[in-house]
Amino acid sequence: MKILVTGGAGFIGSHLCKRLVDEGNEVICVDNFYTGRKKNIEKLLESDKFSVMEHDIINPLEITGLDRIYNLACPASPPAYQKDPVFTWKTSVIGVMNMLDLARKNNNCRVLQTSTSEVYGDPLEHPQKESYWGNVNPIGIRSCYDEGKRASETLIVDYFRKFDLPVRIIRIFNTYGSNMDPNDGRVVSNFIVQALSNQDITIYGDGSQTRSFQYVDDLIDGMLKMMENNLGFIGPVNIGNPGEFTIKELAEIVLKMILESKSKIVFKDIPKDDPKIRKPDITLAKEKLSWEPLISLEKGLVQTIAYFRSEVE
Ligand code: NAD
Ligand code: UDP
Repeated sequence: MKILVTGGAGFIGSHLCKRLVDEGNEVICVDNFYTGRKKNIEKLLESDKFSVMEHDIINPLEITGLDRIYNLACPASPPAYQKDPVFTWKTSVIGVMNMLDLARKNNNCRVLQTSTSEVYGDPLEHPQKESYWGNVNPIGIRSCYDEGKRASETLIVDYFRKFDLPVRIIRIFNTYGSNMDPNDGRVVSNFIVQALSNQDITIYGDGSQTRSFQYVDDLIDGMLKMMENNLGFIGPVNIGNPGEFTIKELAEIVLKMILESKSKIVFKDIPKDDPKIRKPDITLAKEKLSWEPLISLEKGLVQTIAYFRSEVE
């Protein structure tokens, strides 16, 4: 198939591009390199099945002959999406609309949108099921991302209703793995890089807030299963690992796994609107896609620490 991956030079996008090329597809990566890195896709460029187009999806795009569009373009780390909130909003809404219009021009090809667990905001229901409408501050510092992704879901389902566009929506929960930018600012990369370079491990708040961490290979499996499901199942569907950890537990696990580290844990102010708990209910993904994550946190961290070791060195 001829497949477009927007945000293909980012953390998740580069893994997806590799998998799709390995499976024999022709892959076009579209990225404006806002947070993406050329080094994530350097090796892929050796394949004649892979090409890159530097482009901002806020602007319309013309490509023909597409069979699939995976839309991953959007900064995902809080410091990155808050740096230019208007850009984040435009990417999430105007960018998504451009990709939906592109799909329509390509004979109504399938489009998968990478939505997020952030649509549940600071959840009052735990674990979070897809039927939960969320608890989101519409005017906070996280809103450009949370509300942007919520608006994108609305738009996508409206294109499905109005134009019969075959859409797919996944809600991704905190994912980690190789190809993350060491300076990305998210918790897994921060803690590992801090531990490897003997800097303080920065816990925001008292570390009692929880997250459920998914290894990137599990996510890619779920993403492909969702795109290729022929049940007409459009989602949204949670794709995440239900293993739930406090942030303090995560810091302790990382320190236990990097034995040589001289880092100490320090506590810093918690950012505004930081969700207190988060854990996916994945019953729907199991039922519809026969998908569930297979890689434990400790196993995924072994791979991820090895990757950051080479980055830090
Ligand atoms: P990332 O920041 O590593 O990758 C995003 C990529 O999109 C980068 O290459 C960036 O340069 C590109 N990009 C951003 N805005 C663009 C624009 N307007 N035009 C073209 N390219 C643009 O983030 P990631 O973790 O790989 O996330 C990928 C997608 O998955 C995002 O849409 C994110 O919202 C979603 N997601 C990720 C997670 C996670 O835990 N990593 C969780 C939920 C949702
Ligand atoms: N966090 C932390 N120290 C860091 C980075 C993040 O304690 O150096 C916390 C953050 O406040 C949040 C959790 O870790 O409670 C997950 O943060 P991340 O930015 O990775 O993802 P998100 O908040 O979007 O789930």
